[in-house]
Amino acid sequence: MKYFRVHIALVFVALAVLLGVVSFETRSSRGQSQSPKADSHVKPTILKTDPRDALAEKASSIFAAAGERNAALQNELVWTFGGKQQRGWYLYDALINQSLNTQNEASSGGFAAALASWQKKVGLNSSGVLDEESLNRMISEWQKNRLKDRNYAQSDQLVTAPAADFYDPERVAELRQVERETFAAYKRMLAAAIADRSLNLAHTPEGGLAPTEKYFKIVSAFRSREYQDQLRRQSPNAGSAGLAVNSPHFTGRALDFYVGGDPVDTKDSNRAIQVKTAVYQWLVRNAERFGFRPYFYEPWHWEYVK
Ligand SMILES: [Zn+2]
Repeated sequence: MKYFRVHIALVFVALAVLLGVVSFETRSSRGQSQSPKADSHVKPTILKTDPRDALAEKASSIFAAAGERNAALQNELVWTFGGKQQRGWYLYDALINQSLNTQNEASSGGFAAALASWQKKVGLNSSGVLDEESLNRMISEWQKNRLKDRNYAQSDQLVTAPAADFYDPERVAELRQVERETFAAYKRMLAAAIADRSLNLAHTPEGGLAPTEKYFKIVSAFRSREYQDQLRRQSPNAGSAGLAVNSPHFTGRALDFYVGGDPVDTKDSNRAIQVKTAVYQWLVRNAERFGFRPYFYEPWHWEYVK
């Protein structure tokens, strides 16, 4: 019975949104077909008596309430990832907006409406509230999109990238290996990022990153098992995900880019800096076009999935 009632409520909300849209469109097309003079005769009181508007108002107040809830959960939702307690989802705003195809602030009714339609699409209660269940579902979608083939790279699949492409220009050749196609895709993506004047990346006349530019440089690429073991020994308290035993870096198709802050520090305060940079936000919006997909928890880590 409870589920039945919830179902009816959802149908009501969906209907209200639909009628709201229809009524809005009807009104705008009416406006377009009439002369400006005729428009002035339309009395605003008509809007109040239209029952479809009452429904649309109801829907918008539901989403406004969801927006208030989201504004709180954005910073306070307690959830778990990688065996660690997490607080809020503000670090994932850019990824969430990308998944929902919206630009709205999390506290807005527009965000709640976009979320509700995503929730409906994936079969969740379309409340418009980004609660733990919806967040976990979104994360599992992101995780599903990551590199599937995690085979250890063969040496003939790897190329040694120039030191100038690396965040640390002293990085030894052995640690500058990248899977061939991944490196070519990185170069294509980099050219697009340099061409995007809004990022203001310092570059050379040849189209590479200038030695003074840190953003977009590669922090880490292919890692051998031996090197990964060494890293793990150096930082035994590093997150299990960061220095995984079966790392995607073994494939040569995972690249860590410099996106701001401390290059690869998972502390919330550091990631909060990284996810606000223009370069990170550009990656969230554009990397997919070049075949790169994110690991949501590490703003710097991108995987070439083609
Ligand atoms: Zn990485």
